[in-house]
Amino acid sequence: MDNMAYMDSQRRNSEEYEALCKRCGKCCGLETDPCVNLKKDISGNYYCAVYESRLGRQVTVSGRIFTCVEIREVVRKGLPNGGCGYGR
Ligand code: SF4
Ligand code: SF4
Repeated sequence: MDNMAYMDSQRRNSEEYEALCKRCGKCCGLETDPCVNLKKDISGNYYCAVYESRLGRQVTVSGRIFTCVEIREVVRKGLPNGGCGYGR
């Protein structure tokens, strides 16, 4: 595989992985103490308002400080909920 084909394949894999997310917001604390960056769009789906710079120190609506990590890391430690798209 040449470099371009490899980059293309990596991009497709990343898009497919992202597409597994159902945008339920539960891994961002929706049902407990949500992150202040968790927002809802007009379709009712949740998204991160600072997605590109999300990793690292963040705060919840109640003022709790926590560290936002890659979803891969969250999944490795146990799924955020039974219906999570990364459960399969
Ligand atoms: S819990 Fe799973 S499906 Fe829901 S927003 Fe988080 S990663 Fe996506
Ligand atoms: S910063 Fe992290 S925890 Fe907060 S909404 Fe974005 S992805 Fe979720």
